[in-house]
Amino acid sequence: MPKSAFVDFKAVKAAITMEQVLQHYGLLDKFKPGTDSLNGPCPIHKGSNPTQFRVSLSKNIWNCFSECKHGGNVLDFIAEMEKVSIHAAALKAIEWFNLDPEAMAANTDKGKSGETERPVPAPKAAAKPTSPPKSSPVPESSAPNTPLKFRLDKLERQHPYLTEQRGLTPETIVDFGIGFCSKGMMADRIAIPIHNVKGEVVAYAGRFVGEPPEGTPKYKLPPGFRKSQELFNLDRAIKEPGDRPLVIVEGFFDAMKLHQHGFCKVVALMGSSLSAAQEELIRQHTTSDSHVIVMLDENEAGQAGREDIACRLSKFCFVRVHQFNEPDMEPEHLTAEEVHQLMEVVL
Ligand SMILES: [Zn+2]
Repeated sequence: MPKSAFVDFKAVKAAITMEQVLQHYGLLDKFKPGTDSLNGPCPIHKGSNPTQFRVSLSKNIWNCFSECKHGGNVLDFIAEMEKVSIHAAALKAIEWFNLDPEAMAANTDKGKSGETERPVPAPKAAAKPTSPPKSSPVPESSAPNTPLKFRLDKLERQHPYLTEQRGLTPETIVDFGIGFCSKGMMADRIAIPIHNVKGEVVAYAGRFVGEPPEGTPKYKLPPGFRKSQELFNLDRAIKEPGDRPLVIVEGFFDAMKLHQHGFCKVVALMGSSLSAAQEELIRQHTTSDSHVIVMLDENEAGQAGREDIACRLSKFCFVRVHQFNEPDMEPEHLTAEEVHQLMEVVL
């Protein structure tokens, strides 16, 4: 891509994490993870003190408390490491991480964000919000997720993992916008877009295809993304009729399968517990007449989760807890007939 090419800095920044950049430089193993942070020697001034350089994972920024005495975002870091401009740093990031500048540009055109080509603040100015590690509270956990400015396109929709192993129909796959991703940060995973309540994509989850080897996570989420702030499929579930019950499940595929079987008013926790923010989202979209069905996996985590969730939600709506007869049963495993029988009993 030529040097003068259009670059949406904000989209590039949103697409890559400091962790990925450190890994790119082969530096990640020199860093110690803390709560929401990575700490290590400063790669920019090549220091040796293991606490002088700190990365905030949720904010996706860095700071050197030693010689550099400043910090910045992920592009500032590349610019300093490579001794190039922010523009050149963004072009390098696009190349290293296989980002799709066309998709990012198309997206920005639609959004008319005004962010395009606007220079990012100089590293010195950007250093201000980062306070020293000891006094730093963690207010970012409640901050909303920023909508992404890019889309992963060219996803392979007809991947056998989706159709054969997960039993999803082409309609469901297209409807949820999922597919196999062959390049970039979600390479060799199934990319699943996660929308906020307004329907904006705030992250992609990457599901490993099949059973992952030891040490490889089944799901990969962007490090700065706070899943506790979202309920998967909530943006669409709230468009369903108010008199229908809202089903709460654990996983993406549970939600997709129930949706495929015609039960569209379903949200996934992306885990077996309900965060305070998720509870608030449900409260905002229910009335005292609303019915909620908690249908978690039939295992220890699911059993513990559903008791807690039922107790909390029953303060403001009708809650019914579904228990499966078989151990390890999950909503995803239900056939269309079973889903319909179940819902008839409930309704
Ligand atoms: Zn430094």
